[in-house]
Amino acid sequence: MLLISDVVFSFSPDHQPVARVKPGDTVRFKTKDCFCDQVTGEHDLVTTIDFDRVNPASGPVFVEGAEPGDVLCAEILSIDTADKGIACTLPESGPLIEWCELRTKVIEVRDGMAYFNDLVFPVRPMVGVIGTAPASGSVVCGQPGAHGGNLDCKFMRAGAKAYFPVRTKGALFQLGDLHASMGDGEISGTGIEIGGDVTVRLHLMKSFRLDWPMLETDDMIHTLASGPEFVAAQREAARQMQRLVAMAWGWDETDAALYLSVRGDSAICQTCQPSSFDMVLRMGAPKEPSKPRLVPLP
Ligand code: CA
Ligand code: CA
Repeated sequence: MLLISDVVFSFSPDHQPVARVKPGDTVRFKTKDCFCDQVTGEHDLVTTIDFDRVNPASGPVFVEGAEPGDVLCAEILSIDTADKGIACTLPESGPLIEWCELRTKVIEVRDGMAYFNDLVFPVRPMVGVIGTAPASGSVVCGQPGAHGGNLDCKFMRAGAKAYFPVRTKGALFQLGDLHASMGDGEISGTGIEIGGDVTVRLHLMKSFRLDWPMLETDDMIHTLASGPEFVAAQREAARQMQRLVAMAWGWDETDAALYLSVRGDSAICQTCQPSSFDMVLRMGAPKEPSKPRLVPLP
């Protein structure tokens, strides 16, 4: 299987692809943790590392036939993490920072369990940074956006399908920033940051339009959107889902909105505010067995 291990620190149509694949191909990405493995133990505080080298993503991969206007579906087949991760407080970040000191905490991960102080709990491995290149310019991997990027959605797990708008030829797909565990909000700025391997199958969709990333789990569809303010991000995420519901089921926009109010879940993926990065919200709708899928099959 193709193994990708080169890293970049931004999403950009100007990056040289490290590999070319065909739709339907399976690719394995070897990833470094979000600090690019610069924090090696509890003696390393994040204030000592080079912040030009954080949030590496492995890739990008050029998908043959992908054109602007298409949608790329990344089916996450497996996530295998290393056996040691770290959680850190970040300077001037998060709602609790004034009551915290700067700290690096090493957390062992083995046999599906995380060891935090005297507590042992199950891991929930997920991918934090994932997406396609924007149409132009360059977006650092730490920033989320309509291309994906630092989405930090805890449902970005093995078994999920993530959908991204294609905005440049070949899509230029890349991913990184694994977490062995992360809660909604990621309120101190880190999950259990960890390296590992992610295997994905890449599908190309020619007749489906998407403006923002979307995530499909066993029982839910989530639209994801980001912005500097809660209100704008929530509106974008909800608007995307309203459009999907109205189109798939032939309902008008008002009924789609009422349905989302009574049956959907508006929630936070990432809001470690204050922070220089935008927050990410999701709008989730359950899969209704009696209704058509909200997205075509990839
Ligand atoms: Ca992240
Ligand atoms: Ca992270």
